Amino acid sequence: MSDVGTQSNPLRVAIIGSGPSGFYTVSNLLKQTGLVVEMDMFDRLPTPYGLVRAGVAPDHQKDKSVTRAYEKSANTEGFRFFGNVEYGTHIHMADLEKHYHQVMFTTGSPFDRNLGVPGENLGGSHSATEFVAWYNGHPDFADRTFDLSQENVVVVGIGNVAMDVARILCKTVEELKVTDIADHALEALGQSKVKNVYILGRRGPAQAAFTPPEIKEMGEFAEADVNIIPAEAALDPHSQAALDEAQDKNALKNVETVSAYAERENQGKARQLHIRFLVSPTELLGEAGQVSAVKLVQNELVLDDRGQLKAVATEREEVIPAGLVFRSVGYRGQPLPDVPFNESWGTIANEAGRVVDANGDQVVGLYTAGWIKRGPSGVIGTNKTCAQETVAQMMADLEAGRTFAPEAPSADAALAMINSRQPDFVSFADWKKIDDAEVALGTASDRPRVKFTQVAKMLEVARD
Ligand code: NAP
Repeated sequence: MSDVGTQSNPLRVAIIGSGPSGFYTVSNLLKQTGLVVEMDMFDRLPTPYGLVRAGVAPDHQKDKSVTRAYEKSANTEGFRFFGNVEYGTHIHMADLEKHYHQVMFTTGSPFDRNLGVPGENLGGSHSATEFVAWYNGHPDFADRTFDLSQENVVVVGIGNVAMDVARILCKTVEELKVTDIADHALEALGQSKVKNVYILGRRGPAQAAFTPPEIKEMGEFAEADVNIIPAEAALDPHSQAALDEAQDKNALKNVETVSAYAERENQGKARQLHIRFLVSPTELLGEAGQVSAVKLVQNELVLDDRGQLKAVATEREEVIPAGLVFRSVGYRGQPLPDVPFNESWGTIANEAGRVVDANGDQVVGLYTAGWIKRGPSGVIGTNKTCAQETVAQMMADLEAGRTFAPEAPSADAALAMINSRQPDFVSFADWKKIDDAEVALGTASDRPRVKFTQVAKMLEVARD
């Protein structure tokens, strides 16, 4: 039997991606009784935590407190962080095979899905992904610009990301300046001329992808009213029957909140949020290459062969003038070199976290967890059970001796390799210097932190 995982021959795991599923991989591995494990985590950015830093909305600081648990994992013996190191650029599959027994890919879903309607590439039409990354200070998006001089903005999709985008557009600078929103975004949003924000859902309130706390927040803005057309809040017989049968708590609460908004009196606030149901964009109309309006069709819900309620277009059309459009219809994963990818799902090809090839056979040594494993769904905590499932497979394979057989399975040998490829890597101690400096800047201005948004600046602080 193999002695991998013992004091004399620790199990060596490389984790590519430092978001929640990467850190839940670490905590799950640390929980394995009797296992001696060394974990090297890599991230292309100098900063860890993935979407907790660059995706979770700045006004949802409570959700970001999970990083305290991640930090605890990072401070355990056997864990090392290598930020500013990119898989496929600095390190490759051959390097991983040489220094590790198992490799976990937790790279998330960085791209947006397309709407597939004419005009979606007009100027002024952006993916929600870009806007979210911009206001969260992601270095790759820090220099993006969004025309906030427009009075009318459309957000397509009705999931929690759409809620985040609409909330950031509807809040006042006073509401935003107590958050860790990027300084460039705070400044730009401070000049915003946005008056109307339209969120477009293609199905009804009973099928909406937002969750109850997020829709509840839409009724709590200092300077924006929420508007819902009563006829669009009302449930059709199919939705009512499905709701009565399933008794889905979230859907019941969502429907209740939406009905209450539909009856609410408008208070004439400076901004108006319009949440629309049963409408789909069919075209983005433009003038001189810039989006100027969104053409919609109204939908009806029809039961499909699988018993799901599907939106089907009617002949009723309308046009909403809008100079800025955000497409928020879900994310998509990015293929990684030498890792089998399922194009139709936008995920790494896998079975319960074990990477599989085109024939469905296991690719020994490779695993995946999080959005790149199962697609972009669920809340942060969902990744805990997702990583747990994959770690269970890793343990079963270890037991069965199904791992890479690395030539140089040592922490020193891996460090020498990383140093030779990217000497400018950022360790966890370096990240803590960046973290401390951001928090100190925040304390000085009554904010949770002031983010550095340029890699060069992060490296300068880390080297100080
Ligand atoms: P999502 O929850 O999957 O929502 C996507 C939305 O886009 C759905 O309303 C979907 O409608 C709609 N859609 C898809 N294709 C469309 C099309 N062609 N035309 C019109 N609408 C279309 O995705 P997400 O909002 O990007 O969120 C991703 C995950 O992150 C979710 O699990 C979400 O809960 C999570 N998240 C959580 C929080 C939080 O906890 N506060 C914050 C942000 C994100 P259908 O339902 O009809 O398909």
